Amino acid sequence: MRKKIWQWTGFNTMASSEAPREEPGSGQVEIRILSIGICGTDLHIMSGHAGFGVPPLALGHELAGVVERIGDGVIGWQPGDRVCIDPLIGCGACHECLSGNKHRCPEAGEIGLQFPGGWQAYLVVPAANLYRLPDNVSFAEATQAETLHCCLGGIDKLDIRPGQHAAVIGDGPTGLYYVQLLKAAGASKVTLIGMRDNRLALGRKLGADAAVNLGSESQNANDPVPAAESQHIVIDAAGNEASLKLGIELLRIGGQMLLFGLPGKPVQMDIQAAVLKELTLMGSTNAPHVWPRVIEMIASGSVKVSPMITHHYSFDELDQAIAFARNEPGEAIKIIVNHE
Ligand SMILES: [Zn+2]
Ligand SMILES: [Zn+2]
Repeated sequence: MRKKIWQWTGFNTMASSEAPREEPGSGQVEIRILSIGICGTDLHIMSGHAGFGVPPLALGHELAGVVERIGDGVIGWQPGDRVCIDPLIGCGACHECLSGNKHRCPEAGEIGLQFPGGWQAYLVVPAANLYRLPDNVSFAEATQAETLHCCLGGIDKLDIRPGQHAAVIGDGPTGLYYVQLLKAAGASKVTLIGMRDNRLALGRKLGADAAVNLGSESQNANDPVPAAESQHIVIDAAGNEASLKLGIELLRIGGQMLLFGLPGKPVQMDIQAAVLKELTLMGSTNAPHVWPRVIEMIASGSVKVSPMITHHYSFDELDQAIAFARNEPGEAIKIIVNHE
């Protein structure tokens, strides 16, 4: 039995081929991949700047599909079950893994980042990484559980009280999810700060009380930048020197800042202001324990995923989807690749 596979092959290149289907081993399940989300991280890896992943490698870590075959010792899953996949795999034996914190495992890696991902018709994964999808959640929507789970893990670290003001810096998919999660968590006024009018307009639709365009293209989303020291909470979903500087400026004394965007290099930060304002700075990455809640939020509509999905491609057009994401980064918010 063979399957179609797309692999990252070198600097911004990819190729499709046929490969043998893998047998699911003990504790493993073979998934027929049905929807794949394209993530900025995929482009970053393909450029060679991410510092992980070695070509040739199938990328793809935002994944949903159905259970196809089941390995020995797997209980609770049947062929045909609709699932999404937590891509994170820990060693399973260290203190962090055993305490439910595999994202802090020194040996951890991710399907589609370090390990072969979902750019293929069939993928064998540990059964422990599967989450069941309610019938009202589409496969395309389910791919977004991965992004959303990272954001919900960050939200859980913040102490959010009704009546508080919060700003999200960065209008990418994670920034738009953070807007929704802050509102759902009870923040009274949420300001989205970004650079692209189409995303800022969507941010308003998804619940942002104000949307600020820091760039020059501002047409319809042009609320003023919040006053200095006006925010109880800032989420930096951009991860650059300018966003960190702005975040520290906007925070009130005693404020909290979630560091989520990745600068990719050491950057300067006004630590003196952080000390004098007694700020709390928190980093956040994956959050394995929040997956069931994320799926519940998608199913109930308390977080809206569909408006984020702006473009669809077929699996045979995966190379075109990647080229579009790379060449027109402002146009698409989330691109989903679907198997027929
Ligand atoms: Zn991603
Ligand atoms: Zn471990």
